[in-house]
Amino acid sequence: MSFTNLGLRAELLHAIADQGYDTPTPIQAQAIPYVLAGRDLMAAAQTGTGKTAGFTLPILQLLSTRESLSLSRFKPRALVLTPTRELAVQVHESVRTYGKYLSLRSAAIYGGVAMGPQFKALKHGVDILVATPGRLLDHIGQRSADLSGIEILVLDEGDRMLDMGFIRDIRKIIALLPKKKQCLLFSATFSDDIRGLAAGLLDHPQSVEVARRNAPTELVTQSVYHVDKGRKRDLLIKLIDDHGWHQVLVFTRTKHAADALAERLNKADITAAALHGNKTQGARQRALEDFKRNKVTVLVATDIAARGIDIDQLPHVINYELPNVPEDYVHRIGRTGRAGSEGEAISLVCVDEHKLLRDIERVLNRPIEKRVIEGFEPDPSIRAEPIQNGRGAQTRPARSGSYERKPGAPRTPQRPSRSGFGNAAAHHNGARHR
Ligand code: AMP
Repeated sequence: MSFTNLGLRAELLHAIADQGYDTPTPIQAQAIPYVLAGRDLMAAAQTGTGKTAGFTLPILQLLSTRESLSLSRFKPRALVLTPTRELAVQVHESVRTYGKYLSLRSAAIYGGVAMGPQFKALKHGVDILVATPGRLLDHIGQRSADLSGIEILVLDEGDRMLDMGFIRDIRKIIALLPKKKQCLLFSATFSDDIRGLAAGLLDHPQSVEVARRNAPTELVTQSVYHVDKGRKRDLLIKLIDDHGWHQVLVFTRTKHAADALAERLNKADITAAALHGNKTQGARQRALEDFKRNKVTVLVATDIAARGIDIDQLPHVINYELPNVPEDYVHRIGRTGRAGSEGEAISLVCVDEHKLLRDIERVLNRPIEKRVIEGFEPDPSIRAEPIQNGRGAQTRPARSGSYERKPGAPRTPQRPSRSGFGNAAAHHNGARHR
């Protein structure tokens, strides 16, 4: 299978060639023909599968080859909703990258930055709008965004949007769209909530399911280092120093812990930046860029902020604190071991986290190798204490979700797919979905 067989126009093939891609990924091979045929789509695919190009390429083709249905050339024709600012930026970058030889206009609209430039872009006219739900509703409230010309809607990372409590915002936005439109729903997992959303939105959808491009179990070496809570920082510094690691993504449960750890690492002469939802958009982008360009050695991130981060060949992921939800562990370690390169995921686990570790092993369906480093042996007299999920925040039960989630947002843990990674299966409405 090549991109040429998918029926994409020359300008898109040219842009794809510039990227150096020679074969479509399974999700692209499955999804692109259906989207081009105008079908609604329900796609089970995670970050790392090439899903963004899977919807961006056919949307660019459809919009560039058919006349706008709307009389106004200022109204957006395609809307991509994403749960996070980072993902909005990345999707928008893809739209620009793949659409560089076409004359379609695009904009990304997300919170945490001034509205001014966004007003300007919208006023200028946009064909493809990538947006986070909250900021888009702000624009609708101010009448700067008009969704009455939308021909194609994409909900990207649908499960995350529901986890983050965006369901009401999404429903409000959908109510403003024309009845007749093509809808594409991408989600890593298909919970009852997602199915409920899909049922009301999609019309005889084609289902496409692909497993992750790389299975954590296949390409990521996982290990647990048992260590007391108060000694985690020293152990992390020792590991980085001893191995000479130059690019390490470290996860904490809370924003406060991310800030505190980044500060301490910097004091220990290990360059580090924190990435979390309290940072301004500019600071988040800068931290990510510095990390990608190896200007900082360590990026300390919370789960939601790290969602959608795409760094080729990220060698090391450290769980400084285990996530409250086992599925977040799978997402975290999925940041490494990509694109065929081997990755390493290390979890620093203290006595408080033993239950979380058992939950993770249950989801993985196998134990993780345990290690103890000399000089960092846990003190057996230390008793487990309830996990604090942030300064001043009440302790939440282990499965209630990570600290950054909106209170009350539903969270239904899903078992990761057991199917082989890189496999793809397309099937019709109502067929196998987890
Ligand atoms: P995504 O799952 O959309 O976040 O994409 C993951 C990564 O795969 C991105 O870095 C893309 O640039 C890359 N990618 C997308 N399509 C292809 C392809 N056909 N061949 C190689 N890499 C790709």
